Amino acid sequence: MKISVDLNRCVGYGQCVFAAPDAFTLHGSEALTYVPNPPDEMREQLLRAQVACPVQAITLGVEDAGAPAATSPRQDPHVVVVGASLAGLKTAESLRETGFAGQLTIIGDEPHRPYDRPPLTKACVSEKLPPDRLELPVTQTLDADFRLGVEAVALDTSRRLVRLADGSSIGYDTVVIATGTRARPFPGGAADGITGIVTVRTRDDAAELQRRLALSPRRVAVIGAGFLGGELASGCRELGLDVTLVEAQHTPLQGPLGSVVGSAVADLARGKGVDLRLATTVDGFEADDTGALRQIRLSDGTTVEADLAVVALGAQRNVEWLDGSGVLADADGVRCDDHCRALDEQGEIVPDVYVAGDVAAAPHPVLPGRLLSVEHWSNALTQAKTVARNITRRGDQDPVPHTGLPSFWSSQFGVNIKGVGYPGIADRVEIVQGALGEASFSVLYGRGDRTVAAVTFDNGRHLSYYESLVREGAPFPAGFSACDDNTSHAVHPVGR
Ligand SMILES: Cc1cc2nc3c(=O)[nH]c(=O)nc-3n(C[C@H](O)[C@H](O)[C@H](O)COP(=O)(O)OP(=O)(O)OC[C@H]3O[C@@H](n4cnc5c(N)ncnc54)[C@H](O)[C@@H]3O)c2cc1C
Ligand code: SF4
Repeated sequence: MKISVDLNRCVGYGQCVFAAPDAFTLHGSEALTYVPNPPDEMREQLLRAQVACPVQAITLGVEDAGAPAATSPRQDPHVVVVGASLAGLKTAESLRETGFAGQLTIIGDEPHRPYDRPPLTKACVSEKLPPDRLELPVTQTLDADFRLGVEAVALDTSRRLVRLADGSSIGYDTVVIATGTRARPFPGGAADGITGIVTVRTRDDAAELQRRLALSPRRVAVIGAGFLGGELASGCRELGLDVTLVEAQHTPLQGPLGSVVGSAVADLARGKGVDLRLATTVDGFEADDTGALRQIRLSDGTTVEADLAVVALGAQRNVEWLDGSGVLADADGVRCDDHCRALDEQGEIVPDVYVAGDVAAAPHPVLPGRLLSVEHWSNALTQAKTVARNITRRGDQDPVPHTGLPSFWSSQFGVNIKGVGYPGIADRVEIVQGALGEASFSVLYGRGDRTVAAVTFDNGRHLSYYESLVREGAPFPAGFSACDDNTSHAVHPVGR
């Protein structure tokens, strides 16, 4: 059977661990990992865990045959979802949940059924979890036609057709764009032709990384200390490997979280034995006679002996297939309104075209005047639900806006980092619980006099309170007292 846990919601109290100890494990004080496809015999235990979870974070899957029950063409509307990953699957599932009885087609260029990506840089590294065990559960039969292993190459909005790389076309009444992102390669082609330089975005990438890690590399170089880079470096250290982590900015996670919080991550990484090279870039790679990576050259003139390099320089949006469709899409994402409806160059709604997940560039009611692309698990989920509700609404009902606040989690260097809101737009931070460098602490982010985000380090159980502050745009700095008596309430520039 298949399970998944919404780790944004999970508060780490561990009731599931008591109910099903072979499926759930707590690491440190609140980081949960789980077996994504436990044996069927564990169903009873897992049901108990699901019921015991105080925040209903656990999803148990049902079997889904994956093919439509009806063999003859239906008269009902046909929804075509392009992108067979989290946003695409959750759109399909939410459509069925909201009573959609029409035809459903899901197109994916990967050959696999939708699977979960977060473990690819976590449990697949540190616990050697096989990447082929990550298929996402569904809560009901989807009755969908999966067209996998074939890319959508064009969207013809005037004829209402999705054109596929195999030369076929699929007609639609409504189409959902959920094509996400791909790993950004090392720039300038410097890594081309050298073996031992990888990226991690897909299940197949993670399998290749596992294969290379099993060869016991002398040193792993991780390029980029964002969320994924930090997780990869952390996992490799857990395997006992020597790791150099190279970051162009002054701290890890400086872009998303600022350098005040990033400096705490730098201390954690060093504390776990990572050779952290900050304010440094990779100038190039040296290979041996066989073309295998031997060392990397750094901008400070030094070199690092490494026979495996993982490039973790962020992602690029999969929008090229929309060229000529009339939908406004570029490197910043597919533009949509707050109801997740795609827009054209003039800002007009493109009829019956919706957008969800990492590929979307969308407004949010909490943040007037800005379009945001959010590359987090929770956003794919909440946008998918909004899309499904708007597709299935009756003609006399108003469309519903997308109001889900972005939230994320990451576990690295023994700490569970969670966040909510928009730390990337903040100008100041305030430590509101604990202190930087302590086992656990919480930070609020402000823009001007308004709270726009919160981040916790091993303190996730308080995040729902901070979320309410972000949602109401509470005054910044905060006007409340936390029970932690060592809290200084110090306010710093966010540091970018
Ligand atoms: C390694 C990794 C770890 C992560 N860890 C976390 C985490 O800890 N916490 C968190 O909040 N988020 C995390 N994320 C982010 C989260 O996984 C993404 O936000 C989520 O996967 C987005 O889902 P999506 O469906 O929008 O896009 P994607 O997952 O990118 O899926 C898009 C799918 O569409 C396919 N596709 C693209 N173009 C076409 C085309 N033309 N035709 C057909 N198919 C196409 C792609 O191949 C892909 O399968 C992580 C992501 C990665 C890669
Ligand atoms: S919140 Fe739910 S999923 Fe998280 S540890 Fe507790 S019981 Fe398990």
